[in-house]
Amino acid sequence: MSADGDDYSEALQRAREHTETWLASIPTRPVGPRVTADELQSSIAMALPEHPLAAADVVDELARIAEPGLMAIPSGRFFGWVMGGTLPAALAAEWLVSAWDQNAAMRVATPATAALEEQAGDWLLELLGLPRDSAVGFPTGATTGNLVGLAAARSAVLQQAGWDVDADGLTAGPRVTVLAGASHHASVDLALRCLGLGMPLTVDADDQGRIRPDALSRALETVDGPCIVVLQAGDLHSGDFDPMREAIGLAHGRGAWAHVDGAFGLWAAASPTLRPRLDGVELADSWATDAHKTLNVPYDCGVVIVRRREPMLAAFSAHTAYLLRDGTATDPFERVPEMSRRARGVPVWAALRSLGRSGVVELVDRLAATAAELADRLGRLPGVEVLNEVAFTQVCLSFGSDERTREVTRRVIADGAVWMSGSRWAGRDVLRLSVSNWSTDARDIDTAVEAVSRATLGAES
Ligand SMILES: *Cc1c(COP(=O)(O)O)cnc(C)c1O
Repeated sequence: MSADGDDYSEALQRAREHTETWLASIPTRPVGPRVTADELQSSIAMALPEHPLAAADVVDELARIAEPGLMAIPSGRFFGWVMGGTLPAALAAEWLVSAWDQNAAMRVATPATAALEEQAGDWLLELLGLPRDSAVGFPTGATTGNLVGLAAARSAVLQQAGWDVDADGLTAGPRVTVLAGASHHASVDLALRCLGLGMPLTVDADDQGRIRPDALSRALETVDGPCIVVLQAGDLHSGDFDPMREAIGLAHGRGAWAHVDGAFGLWAAASPTLRPRLDGVELADSWATDAHKTLNVPYDCGVVIVRRREPMLAAFSAHTAYLLRDGTATDPFERVPEMSRRARGVPVWAALRSLGRSGVVELVDRLAATAAELADRLGRLPGVEVLNEVAFTQVCLSFGSDERTREVTRRVIADGAVWMSGSRWAGRDVLRLSVSNWSTDARDIDTAVEAVSRATLGAES
């Protein structure tokens, strides 16, 4: 095989056809997959192929195999977990990123993607109202965003205590105390485990999952030595936000680093209407968010923002001779855990270029307004209770007993018109909706209300 245009042409043509078939099926197909991973795995099992297959045929076979096992996450009728769809400009940009095949690690090697990602980073800081000279990295998601932010935090608070963790490791150093609200996301624990910091001490939260400042203040009083406080913008169940100004003020009063996990909720800061709920968020030291949730770019794309670049570089920079620095700017790889990676910040550039500021504000406001409308309409169905104050994009419903809620959840999912997740919150089983897809429209809202209504009628009380 030689790499002339023809070798690519037919394979890409087929990929485009399959893409369009998939996208055209989205408005009407049942949202859920028709088979489980186990079923699909056994039905496609074959011995390692001995011989080559033409690229175009590989694409056809791949599309055929995958079809029954695809979840219609790009559908406006998908309300599961917290997962956005994909904006057209972001999807198309993602294709270009693959075709360009740029290794986005270094400015000197791939100037186009480095410059585009830097521009996207500047736009993000402006939109989210965060300090404009912060360092921005594009990791795989908010989990790795939390890892980067907390690694920078670890370097900084230990530096303050006279300990160079990046040179000397954790073992003989001072103990770092990490405090996090009781309702923090599991990815924070994962990041802390990777960093050798163990499980955080949990601080009481209120019934919406917001950290309680009085409890945080008491917890901080007992801490001796280096300390990190992890706050949350956007609770998975309530959608609500920690009281940022007060909590960050308390953390800083004690010399602690304040990190914000804002995987989906940090986007509320872009909306003039919603921003007051995040008042003071710009005072933190680091922030993690996702572009693949609220901004609706393809997986996998997170964003990590650190106010001072030094602790981020202390944790992630690797100055070996073959890595050529270009001027004084830091290289993209110095702000994420990977060296070689695709230019995942480029679809962010495309999403922001296509939406503009007004489009981002409209998107964020509309997702929140849709969640409020769904909560209102679903809450008026007989036997349905909305358990959370709908602060952003998340709605938690109970249908009476836990058993009945689970039964309704099963029925909603089996029905196929919409997809919503079952979860457990505040000691009760819930049906949880997340409004995270840019394309959810008035018809999808009607469909969702009808689907839940149907499921309640069929469920025993
Ligand atoms: C989704 C989410 C995460 C993890 O983000 P990934 O992009 O899945 O890695 C972290 N925190 C919160 C609050 C989330 O909603």
